[in-house]
Amino acid sequence: MSVYDDKPWLARYAPGQPAEIAGEYDNAVDMFAAAVRRDPEGEIIRYFDGRITFRELDELSDAFAAGITDAGFTPGERVAVYAQNVPQFVIAQLGTWKAGGIAVSVNPMNRERELELILQDSGASVLVCLEGLYRDVVSKVVANTDVRTVITTSELEYQTRDDQRIFGGVERTPCEGTLDMAQMLERFRGHAPPVVSLGPDDVALLTYTSGTTGPPKGAMTTHRNVVFNAQTYRDWVGIGPGDVVLGVAPLFHITGLIGHIAVSLLTGAPLVLMYRLDPAVTLETIRDEKATFTVGSITVFIALMNSPGADKEALASLTKIYSGGAPIPPSTIKAFQSTFGHYIHNIYGLTETTSPSHGVPFGADAPVDPASGALSVGVPIYNTVVRIVGEDGEDLPPGEVGELVTSGPQVVSGYWNKPEETANAMSGGRFRTGDVGYMDEAGWFYIVDRKKDQINAGGYKIWPREVEDVLYEHEAVREAAVVGVPDPYRGETVKAFVSLRPGARADSDELTAFCKQRMAAYKYPRQIEILDELPKTVTGKLLRRELRTREQPQSPSS
Ligand code: AMP
Repeated sequence: MSVYDDKPWLARYAPGQPAEIAGEYDNAVDMFAAAVRRDPEGEIIRYFDGRITFRELDELSDAFAAGITDAGFTPGERVAVYAQNVPQFVIAQLGTWKAGGIAVSVNPMNRERELELILQDSGASVLVCLEGLYRDVVSKVVANTDVRTVITTSELEYQTRDDQRIFGGVERTPCEGTLDMAQMLERFRGHAPPVVSLGPDDVALLTYTSGTTGPPKGAMTTHRNVVFNAQTYRDWVGIGPGDVVLGVAPLFHITGLIGHIAVSLLTGAPLVLMYRLDPAVTLETIRDEKATFTVGSITVFIALMNSPGADKEALASLTKIYSGGAPIPPSTIKAFQSTFGHYIHNIYGLTETTSPSHGVPFGADAPVDPASGALSVGVPIYNTVVRIVGEDGEDLPPGEVGELVTSGPQVVSGYWNKPEETANAMSGGRFRTGDVGYMDEAGWFYIVDRKKDQINAGGYKIWPREVEDVLYEHEAVREAAVVGVPDPYRGETVKAFVSLRPGARADSDELTAFCKQRMAAYKYPRQIEILDELPKTVTGKLLRRELRTREQPQSPSS
């Protein structure tokens, strides 16, 4: 029996259904405008004690659009947003769209070289950032980029209900040479945004990912992608204005962009922003705000379970729970259920599929693959065709393992300024995921391996080359190879194998410290092993796969 047979309501998701479910709105601004019309005084953002209504967010984003336009911004240009989960993230993103621009989201954990690369690659002309990040990172690299306008703001803004503070009023030390966001919004309050036209195929976001190959690339997420996947969450999970979204995934990642911001803009469900993942504060917030829905990575759910105060009462309201971005073992779901009484639904996708392409329908129980013990990632979202292909691109029957190739309204339009990589990864709208898995006879999908070298540390992706390149900058390093190794908390973590130049001396602590200074905290190698020689092929190519296999847990029979 197919998964679609025993659940009649799933029939509309079955493969082969007519493709009538496209985006309901032409763009994300129209989608938000409809929500403003429905309930202007409803709350859209909650941040500590601060509250922002739909009407206020509309006005603030209008002011942002008018402000950057006044500073010389024109449609099609990029605005980079480099910040933790703060309301200004949403204001800047929406304001950028209203000005006809493309928002570029940057991981606030990124250090100088990582930020510089994204700013240079995207050619962003405006950068919005928190003051601390400006002082520590932006000020050191901005001169090497095309950024003309830096807008700074503080995480303290919007923290209280005092309306004054929405437009400034927080004690701050100004960042020389930058525009203060609160002052800009105050100055342009009441100004209309420029008149722009935004169609479904226009790019809304550049979301950086290492993809299946090479250094970070900007996935071009269109307005259609944003609207469609916001609908996916609404329809798949059943989110409506009576829900409250817990915004604990980072907003810079596609999971947060869609599963928090876009879903709230579409459905009108208030978004409770968590500045960072502090498990005790998160539990308290869930209880106080009566959050009903969240999507995050396995690390969030493990952290919540291990926090003091973790009991059924703490999570009573949070019934719609989704985990994506990394594998989640059935044992974690069971432990979570016995602590909190709620099931975690698995969801699967990539930056290139604008977050979910598959999910476990709300209320369904995902089966487990008896051979690998992997939990199913669910079934494809409606209007989505997922093929399992063999080495020569041939379609494989149910039960056979191959690469997942996805086509649907959520597949991004390509990589920014990278036609060759785009053609390799997604020719004809068929996106090769680099993930390896199969579909069972009933229609459930399982991910069992990866073709790509990417390391997945609890949802944070690391490309080995990025870490190796930094190691090679150390004068003692002759060769470096970086692999993912099993980790009880993150699933996987980074290990480097290094050989040293003749006569050079360096120990693993020194090399770790060297890396730590130069990259985002989740990327630096947690383990470094120094070997005399690294394994290579006869042609001298490093055998990363051999090192990775060495680090896998041995089965009892092997
Ligand atoms: P990103 O582009 O950061 O969203 O990462 C996408 C990658 O995360 C996929 O290619 C998968 O390797 C992995 N991934 C996402 N969701 C899941 C899941 N539910 N189970 C296993 N791996 C996942």
